[in-house]
Amino acid sequence: MQVFQNVLEMIGNTPMVKVSNMDTGPCELYLKLEHLNPGGSIKDRIAVSMIEAAEKSGKLKPGMTIIEATAGNTGLGLALVAASKGYPLKIVMPDKMSAEKVNNLKAMGADVVRTRSDVQKGHPEYYQDMAARLAEENGYYYVNQFTNDANVAAHYETTGPEIWKQMDGKIDAFVCGVGSGGTLSGVGRFLRERSATIDLVLADPEGSILEPLVNRNEKVEAGSWLVEGIGEDFIPDICEIKLANKAYAISDKEAFRVAREVLVKEGVMVGSSSGTLIAAALQYCREQTEPKRVVTLACDTGNRYLSKLYNDEWMAAQNLLEK
Ligand code: PMP
Repeated sequence: MQVFQNVLEMIGNTPMVKVSNMDTGPCELYLKLEHLNPGGSIKDRIAVSMIEAAEKSGKLKPGMTIIEATAGNTGLGLALVAASKGYPLKIVMPDKMSAEKVNNLKAMGADVVRTRSDVQKGHPEYYQDMAARLAEENGYYYVNQFTNDANVAAHYETTGPEIWKQMDGKIDAFVCGVGSGGTLSGVGRFLRERSATIDLVLADPEGSILEPLVNRNEKVEAGSWLVEGIGEDFIPDICEIKLANKAYAISDKEAFRVAREVLVKEGVMVGSSSGTLIAAALQYCREQTEPKRVVTLACDTGNRYLSKLYNDEWMAAQNLLEK
């Protein structure tokens, strides 16, 4: 058994498990358990990669305050890295994100600024515009996962190769969502380079602008959705959306129902975005006429959503509970 020298060494090399008690049609569906990273999500990978790249480039100097705009998980990954390397951390987060994430961030020593979820890019209270402004005014280092190449590199260099190795090179489809687009661009590019015929499937919340773009090349106005961490109102700089050759729009209700079903039937407790991904992956699997090997992700831990998707009162109040 391996002994690690520090918690950052434990990031990545996550296990994969086959979905065994749900209807996957003629296909095999595998979940890569990213919620088992030490910070509880796939974002730990990019947190180390982005901070180490900033240190190397000289832009991030010892003792400087780090600031980031995040749905919470990148913030939690950064909190691990910042604590272990001694940087103060400021997090700007839209107010729709769960209280558990905020409390977890504060407990890790981060300063959390909450801002409006109902405004879009260009508005001063939009979380990314606010983080950029605070960085400019105060001399903080703004990580900006949406434009940061080290985000994509983390997935191209670690997540992608791990999936390829775990599947023995036998993989027909990969299903993921887009928040920053780091996963799609990094894992997607790595897998496409090895298999030109692989399906790269986007799982998108209803209301996001991405699914209509991929399926119908249609530009729509962004709506709103409750799932956290995926779905977009713009296309991030690093997001190679053209890599996706198919997309599914998944309702909040379906995403939350599937997340709860995965916990009951498979014993894996995932967050809301994983519900969207697994719902899309199951639809894809059931539509196939030939057996295929399909991989998707458990992006973050469901412990982060005990007050929301795993809380019957909250679910009922949002009209999301099955009768
Ligand atoms: N799931 C969750 C829970 C997330 O927090 C994020 C990132 N915001 C994603 C998925 C999407 O990953 P990416 O940023 O690589 O597109």
